[in-house]
Amino acid sequence: MKTGLVTSDTYQNHNTGEGHPEKIDRVSVILENFKKLNNKNLIWKKPSKIKNKILEAAHTPDYVKFVQNSFPKKGLSFLDGDTIVSPGSKDATIDAAGSIIAAIDGVQNNEFANAFCAVRPPGHHAEKNKAMGFCIYNNVAIGAHYLLEKFKLNKVAIIDFDVHHGNGTQDIFYNNKKVLYISTHQYPYYPGTGTENEKGKYNNIFNIPLPAGTSSEEFLNAYEFVLKKLNEFKPEFILFSAGFDAHEDDPLAQFQLKSKDFYDLTKRTLTLSKLHCNGKVVSILEGGYDLIALQNSAEMHVNALLEFD
Ligand SMILES: [Zn+2]
Repeated sequence: MKTGLVTSDTYQNHNTGEGHPEKIDRVSVILENFKKLNNKNLIWKKPSKIKNKILEAAHTPDYVKFVQNSFPKKGLSFLDGDTIVSPGSKDATIDAAGSIIAAIDGVQNNEFANAFCAVRPPGHHAEKNKAMGFCIYNNVAIGAHYLLEKFKLNKVAIIDFDVHHGNGTQDIFYNNKKVLYISTHQYPYYPGTGTENEKGKYNNIFNIPLPAGTSSEEFLNAYEFVLKKLNEFKPEFILFSAGFDAHEDDPLAQFQLKSKDFYDLTKRTLTLSKLHCNGKVVSILEGGYDLIALQNSAEMHVNALLEFD
């Protein structure tokens, strides 16, 4: 089977400034590696051109307008303490959101079985009306809304294995029973949300907070709960918020995962997905700040996607 790899050159022009961890090389190292591996079953695709209406399914129109007026003519501009935009961020932000749309359309049209979007900026901290934690548009939430509205799905699952809690995704779907949001994350930690008591209006949110120092074995044991909830929900489509900052080498957090763990969790999820949605899975990059760990972990994750049959 084939896997889509959706990406764009515009991410190279999203400049976050000297020394910022969410740097240009993050996507470049992932792409260099996939170019080198040259797997014929990996189908490279560009993001879709999208209109504001697609963004406004997840964000308020005022917020979209605010973002679109925030890009400086030169230099850098701050949307929050650590969320920075440059002139090139205008195209990068729209392409990051347009990537998940292209990936979903590709799966729905049988161009490929599943897909990975190598994008920046990431999205899962961006709330309905707030940029935060390097995130501007909530790419995965935009994708989930697109599945509900364009394809009239009623059950979309988002699995967020980034080491940080996806407060933005939780915010956007807190009152939406059509979307199951499950997050594993270091807790207590940035952004401060993600307790087990945050369940959503329809019990559609499941947070799995884990302590600093969580090992591969502890993480994969906890991941069984993700699979259990996924199995109960019977999703029609699965989206991954794929952050690789739970890796032991990541400088921003303190989990102890190895690159291969991302293969294992992906493989287990895909096996389960066969029962409910015939392996319809789209994954989008969130965090991951050690370049070698990020490159290896993304390869492991995509290897599991490529093996789906
Ligand atoms: Zn993260």
